[in-house]
Amino acid sequence: MTELETVQSLSDDDLDRFGSDPRSTFEANLASVHRRIAHACQRAGRRPESVRLLPITKTVPAHILRFAFEAGIRDFGENKIQEAQGKREALHDLSIRWSIVGHLQTNKVKYLTRFATEFQALDSTKLAHELNKRLEREERDLDVFIQVNTSQEASKFGLDPRDVGAFIENLHQYPRLNPKGFMTLALFSSDMTKVRPCFRLLRELRDRTVRAHPHIGQLSMGMSGDFEAAIEEGADVVRVGQAIFGKRPTPDSFYWPEAAV
Ligand SMILES: *Cc1c(COP(=O)(O)O)cnc(C)c1O
Repeated sequence: MTELETVQSLSDDDLDRFGSDPRSTFEANLASVHRRIAHACQRAGRRPESVRLLPITKTVPAHILRFAFEAGIRDFGENKIQEAQGKREALHDLSIRWSIVGHLQTNKVKYLTRFATEFQALDSTKLAHELNKRLEREERDLDVFIQVNTSQEASKFGLDPRDVGAFIENLHQYPRLNPKGFMTLALFSSDMTKVRPCFRLLRELRDRTVRAHPHIGQLSMGMSGDFEAAIEEGADVVRVGQAIFGKRPTPDSFYWPEAAV
C-alpha cells in the first residue's frame, strides 16, 4: 500500500486519533515507549531485553496494526475475542501472534482456541477445563498467564491471591495449557504509592510459588499509566496500548465495569 492510499483510507476518527501521518505518529510513540522502558530498567538495574513489550491494540484499526507489523512487532494483544478475530481476518497475510488479555466467557473459548497463541486472563478452573478441551480438539497448545486480583475492590476479574496456590496445583490436569506466569491489573490511580503494592503482591505470590513451579515465573503487569513502576517492581511483560496508539475513544469502563467508579 502506498502512503497516499493509506492516508485516503483514514476516517475522521482515525485522523483525530492518529493524525494525518499515522505511521510517523506510531513510530515516534513506539520509540518513546522503548526509551521509557530502557530508563526504567536502568533505574532498576535490569537489562532492557529482559522486558517484553506487548502492544495492546483494542480499538486500533487493522491498517494501523500493519504499520506496527512493518516496524517489527509480531505479538499483538487484544481485550475482546471478536475484535481480535476481525483483525486476524483482515491481516491474514501477516504472521502475527495474537494474545488475548481480557476476561473470557466460557462460551467464547472455541473462538480463542482456533488462533490465539497466548491468553493472559486465566481466572477459573472451569475456564482452564474448557480451554484444554477445545485445544485438545484443535490439537493446539496455549501459553497462559493466571490473572490475579491484586487490588481487591478495583478489579473484579482475577483469582483471589489466597486461591492461587491451590489453583496452580490443579493445572497439571490441563496439559494443553502452558502456564507462563501471572497477570494483574493494578489499582486504577495516578498515585503510584497505591499502585505499587499491587505489583509487589503479584511478585511475592510468584516468589512463593516459583520454587515448586519454576516454569510459572513471569509477571505481566504495567500498562500505559504505570508500566515504569511495574518494571521497577519486576515486570517481565508490560501491556501497553494508549502510549503507543494514542488515546482510546472508548472509556475504560467498557472493558472494566468497575473503572467508572
Ligand atoms: C487495554 C488493556 C491494557 C493496556 O491499557 P493502556 O491504558 O491502553 O495501556 C492492558 N491490559 C489489559 C488487560 C487491557 O485490556
